[in-house]
Amino acid sequence: MPDQGLCTVIVGCQWGDEGKGKIVDVLAENVDIVARYQGGANAGHTVHVGSAEFILHQIPSGILHEGKRCLLGNGVVLDVQQFFEEYDALVARGIDMEGRVGVSRRAQLLMPYHKMMDKALEDSAAEKIGTTGRGIGPAYEDKAGRRGVRVADLANPGRLVQRIDAAKARICERLNEMGVGTEELDRAMDVTLALGERLLSLATDVGPEISAALKADRRVLLEGAQGTALDLDHGTYPFVTSSNTTAAAAATGTGIGPTSIDRVIGVVKAYTTRVGEGPLPSAFEPEMDAHIRELGAEFGATTGRPRRCGWFDSVLTRYASQVNGLTGVAVTKLDVLDTLSELQIATAYRMPDGSVTERFPADTWSLSAVEPVYETMPGWESPTGHVRKLEDLPKNARAYLDRIEELTNAPVDWVSVGSKRSQIIPVG
Ligand code: GDP
Repeated sequence: MPDQGLCTVIVGCQWGDEGKGKIVDVLAENVDIVARYQGGANAGHTVHVGSAEFILHQIPSGILHEGKRCLLGNGVVLDVQQFFEEYDALVARGIDMEGRVGVSRRAQLLMPYHKMMDKALEDSAAEKIGTTGRGIGPAYEDKAGRRGVRVADLANPGRLVQRIDAAKARICERLNEMGVGTEELDRAMDVTLALGERLLSLATDVGPEISAALKADRRVLLEGAQGTALDLDHGTYPFVTSSNTTAAAAATGTGIGPTSIDRVIGVVKAYTTRVGEGPLPSAFEPEMDAHIRELGAEFGATTGRPRRCGWFDSVLTRYASQVNGLTGVAVTKLDVLDTLSELQIATAYRMPDGSVTERFPADTWSLSAVEPVYETMPGWESPTGHVRKLEDLPKNARAYLDRIEELTNAPVDWVSVGSKRSQIIPVG
């Protein structure tokens, strides 16, 4: 198996839903700590263990491996109520959680008023972003606006109430202006605040904890949510999430130095999908779109929304390789393409002015108007789900992976050929 180094970041290299949960689940077996560094309950990792399916929104996927410590870094926005629902559901399914979950004292609390605001904004927006309505955007707005409330504040009830009242009043005023009633808010706030004490019992200093573990030669996995094209700075702005999803954020979002990171593994699906609004240059024609959506079960884990599907876009993955400094790639869902007789890979974009570029453009609106330049490759037309060694893959599947590696500018380290833990091919 490819050596992971001590500290590995797993990052999505498309628009999220690349199958990061599965890759984290596989790699978690050999690590001691798994930590989340950004996002909130808008992430949804689906992991299959035996015949059981687990959908995790806030707790790192590593929780499904006995004994691993799972941390939520300062970069996350924590929906306390949902967090404990998820926590208790795992306990109810027999997962031993005792002493295994830690939450950064610096993590932001996502409050019921953030959720109300998120929904109201999305409902009233002329140009929708396609958010999950989980309050993530408004919570990060309050963080950047220095109005946020953090886990550490729970230890000081007087200050907590003061800060919450100020932030809540501001949002309620805006909601009332928008004609949205806030009557239900007080009850939701009571439920959230009642969990404060319980959350405090899990509070820790994530950065020092990870640093100490690394010093003691223990292995750490930093688990990204969403994908590079949804990064607040580097994605298809404004159709992005409200946090930095890319690998550098793994350091800021947990509180370790960037020099502590040894490996960055980018997860790419063998084709491309996108949920929510915004451009998808290599989108399939409608019939193929529906076909691959069925084959790949491309419906959102958090919202159930159908995902738009398209050909593998190497302009995007090459960009992701550069932004994240990838040391390796995990290609997922290769098996979904098993029946196709021919495949296409986008290698460049023809811009609206007729010029051709191999670079991912910053101007999102021109991205909506680009025409991908495709390279055609023959399909392999045989099942791959049972394959466990690279050399046992059909020749055309190997050629497809070689081309992905070449165009993405990073070696393929793993190939996933099914949703089960065992359906993985270590490369190299
Ligand atoms: P994440 O947010 O990046 O973890 O993505 P999702 O939770 O949406 O995961 C993608 C889905 O694909 C999950 O249901 C996985 O079980 C499934 N999956 C992951 N890898 C593979 C694979 O190689 N083949 C197939 N067919 N399904 C996979």
